[in-house]
Amino acid sequence: MHDRVRSADGLSIRNIPRHRNGEYEVDVSEILAKVVPTPRAKGPRLDPETAKLEIARHHREIMEILGLDLGDDSLSETPERVAKMYVDEIFGGLRDESFPKITVVENKMSYDEMLVEINITFNSTCEHHFLPILGKAHVAYLCKGWVLGLSKFNRVVDFFARRPQVQERATVQIQQALSQILRTEDVAVVVDAMHCCVKTRGIGDDGTITRTSKLSGAFQSNPSLRSEFYTSIPTPDRLKIT
Ligand SMILES: [Zn+2]
Repeated sequence: MHDRVRSADGLSIRNIPRHRNGEYEVDVSEILAKVVPTPRAKGPRLDPETAKLEIARHHREIMEILGLDLGDDSLSETPERVAKMYVDEIFGGLRDESFPKITVVENKMSYDEMLVEINITFNSTCEHHFLPILGKAHVAYLCKGWVLGLSKFNRVVDFFARRPQVQERATVQIQQALSQILRTEDVAVVVDAMHCCVKTRGIGDDGTITRTSKLSGAFQSNPSLRSEFYTSIPTPDRLKIT
C-alpha cells in the first residue's frame, strides 16, 4: 500500500511506503516485479503438491534410463525425496510467497554510517548443471531513513539463493531487493562462491572461488566509501566456503 506524493522538487511523482508507528511492511509482489527476473515459462504454475508428483514421476524415469533398480529399498523413495527437496527446499525461492516477511523500521537512532554484514552463508544451485553453489554474501548499505532487522539480510540472500541461479543474477537480485526494501540506492553486495560444477566435473578445480558484485548509489560514486566496504569484507582466499 503506497501513497502517491509529489517529491520535493515538485516535478516528479514518486511512491513512498504508507507507514504507521514508524514502520512499514514490505510489499513482496512489488519488490519481485522490479528485480531482474529469473527466466520462467509463461502460463499457470503447478501447485506445490502436483509439482512434487510430476517431478517424482519424471525423476523416476531418469533413474530408470540410467539403469537403476527402483525396486531396491535404497532407491525406491528417491524420486519423491528429490521432488520434495526441489519444491520445498532448494527451489523454494521460485514461489513468491516464500519471500521473508519483513517489517522495515524508521531510523530513529540517527545512525547515518555504513552498515556491513559479512559472511552470510548461502547454498544455491547452478542452473546450468543443477549442482550446488556454496557461498558467502557480504552486504552493506548507507543508513538513512529506514533500518532492517539484521537477520532479514540473511533471509533475503537465502530466498534468492533458493532458485536455479547464475551467480551474477543472484547478486543483482539481492542488491535490487535490498535497495527497494531500504528505500535507498546506497546498497552494495559482494558474493563469493564455490561452484560444484567447476569442482566436481569438467575442469575439476576445487580451489576456484568466483566473486561477483553489484554496487549502486554512493558505493559507486564515492571511491572512499567503496574502498571502506571492500576493506571490511574478507578476501576470497580467507573464506572458508568448503
Ligand atoms: Zn554450473
